Amino acid sequence: MPTPPADKHDQVRRNNLSRILRHLHAAGPASRSDLVGLTGLNRSTVGAIVADLVETGLVEERAGTTSTVGRPSLVVAPVATSAVVLSFELRVEKLIGSLVGLGGTVLNTREHPHMRAGYGVTIAVDQIVQMSTDLLEHVPEGSSWVGTGISIPGSIETEGGKVRLAPNLGWEDISLGEPLMVAMRAQFGDPPTVTIRNDSDLGAISEHLRGAAAGAGNMIYISGEIGIGGGVVVNNRLLDGVGGFAGEVGHMVIDPAGPECRCGSHGCWETLIGLDSVIRATGNDPETAELSEILSHVDPTLPSAHVGFDVVGRSIGIGISNLVNIFNPEAVVLGGHLRELLPFVEDSVSEMLARALPASRSGVRVVPASIEIGSSLMGAAESGFEGLLADPIGVMNSSSVLIAS
Ligand SMILES: [Zn+2]
Repeated sequence: MPTPPADKHDQVRRNNLSRILRHLHAAGPASRSDLVGLTGLNRSTVGAIVADLVETGLVEERAGTTSTVGRPSLVVAPVATSAVVLSFELRVEKLIGSLVGLGGTVLNTREHPHMRAGYGVTIAVDQIVQMSTDLLEHVPEGSSWVGTGISIPGSIETEGGKVRLAPNLGWEDISLGEPLMVAMRAQFGDPPTVTIRNDSDLGAISEHLRGAAAGAGNMIYISGEIGIGGGVVVNNRLLDGVGGFAGEVGHMVIDPAGPECRCGSHGCWETLIGLDSVIRATGNDPETAELSEILSHVDPTLPSAHVGFDVVGRSIGIGISNLVNIFNPEAVVLGGHLRELLPFVEDSVSEMLARALPASRSGVRVVPASIEIGSSLMGAAESGFEGLLADPIGVMNSSSVLIAS
């Protein structure tokens, strides 16, 4: 058999390293036999790839249990502190930052509340750089910082990190990627890539990879904050749309005669089920009341009508029915305040969901998001890891930011 050319050989090797590291990062430790079964590669190839990954420090082999019952053997496991990313979730009322290690291990988390009004890009950039500095102080010696991901509640041009519209932050056609990279370089010299993406897309990525919809090839993530967003996964791929703006489900018009939306339209889904509207439905003022505090006094076994949530619950159900008819997903995952609210409105949601086409709704699960630190924040971490997972050895060899504390 002729020997493949060197660059072709390198590409095959890089792809194989990528496949195995991706699997370990998403699903955790596996034996060499499991990896053979999962990848279809032969035993010696898997052995060589594992040896390469062990040499970079990204994985280790240690004693563990395998799929063979009762027979202890070596497992290959990702090393959380070998490569780390910074992830940030910029929300209307606060900035949350976290340091996440390979395999999705959360090493540290910070929060910084801010005023809803007058929060501009300059302040956001300063806070992100400051929080990055604080978080990186907690990284074990020898870790490589391989990426930074940022979640924004708005429409983002992924290339260049321009915010087209983040109505609830009051940002329109604002460059965020450029000033942020300038500030990161001034602080850190040669920082790894920064990726800026829509919060709901990132929520869909993380819930699909390791959350409530793990294993579901077709799923929809709906983020609930002041605004409502969506991320749609079709056949295991996030739906982008021609400009990258697909999934703005919060601006589906549910009631054309409804309240005016921040986008300029009327009766958008988010005017009916956004956080402020839900708090108002309980007779409280969104400026002063907290939804979790309100819900802590409500009996979830009572029908939603009894606690003033029937209209909100039915509105949630109408929107989900529309999405189920269009996308026929296996799972609809509710994040943010919708996750908290779900137990109190399940009857109204089910009532409306029963109106979706029987074939489309068959087998669909409407479930709360399950990622503890927040789906969008973990999704931002996943986007930070993307470069490493695509080319593990290339990134580790070129990673200029080794942390020495
Ligand atoms: Zn709207």
